[in-house]
Parts: sequence; C-alpha cells; structure tokens
Amino acid sequence: MSIFSAIISRDIPADIVFESDTIIAFRDIAPRAPIHLLVVPKTEAYANVVELAAGDPALLAELVAVAQDLAREHSDGEFRLIFNTGANAGQSVFHVHAHVLAGGLTEGSLGGE
Ligand code: 5GP
Repeated sequence: MSIFSAIISRDIPADIVFESDTIIAFRDIAPRAPIHLLVVPKTEAYANVVELAAGDPALLAELVAVAQDLAREHSDGEFRLIFNTGANAGQSVFHVHAHVLAGGLTEGSLGGE
C-alpha cells in the first residue's frame, strides 16, 4: 500500500481539502509554497503521470480540473502543477500525484527548491 493509500483509508492522518469517488487532495506535509496541495487519484494503478495519461486520460483531466478548483478556493486561481516523474526527477511516492503550488510564487521560477 502506498503512503497515499494509507491517507485515503484513514490509516494515517492528513489535512484533507477535497475528496470525491476518484480523487483526494490534501496539504503536503512539507510545503514548498504558501499553498502546497497534493492531488491524488485514489487508484494505485498508475505510478506516474505518463502511466495515468496513457491508461486513463479522463482521470488525468479530472485531476487537472480539481487542481484548478483548489487553486481558486485556496488562492487566486493561478497555480503551478508539478508531476515529478522518476526518482532522478525527485519522485519519492510512486502513486501518481500532482503538486499544486500557489500563492506568492517567485515570478518566472520553474519551481526549484
Ligand atoms: P514526490 O517527491 O513523490 O513528487 O512527492 C511526494 C510528496 O509527498 C512530498 O512533497 C512529501 O512532502 C509528501 N508526503 C510524503 N509523505 C507524506 C505524508 O505522510 N503526508 C503528507 N501530507 N504528505 C506527504
């Protein structure tokens, strides 16, 4: 079970900000921006965004729409959407998830930490 599945099943706590039948979103435990949310399909079937795009593009589109809604709710509607893909790119949880960063982002930055 991935750490995110343990959040979905309430085996570990998280600050959940959105939940539907297919997607959950919660605050990142180590935020890198004033607003830093993780938007996660509930299924563990896809390890990364490439697999999700190939396997269930409608679910990917739903995830992006949730990201937009959350950026509106928590900030001004503008946001950075990051999918780390592969360990060498910084991915540490191999259950596909989007980072939604918003609020006070550095202009022009690509999101380096
Ligand atoms: P990745 O490095 O795979 O792109 O992103 C994984 C993210 O999950 C990291 O930003 C990390 O801070 C976050 N994270 C890891 N474990 C937990 C946890 O138990 N709870 C929450 N809320 N976030 C977590």
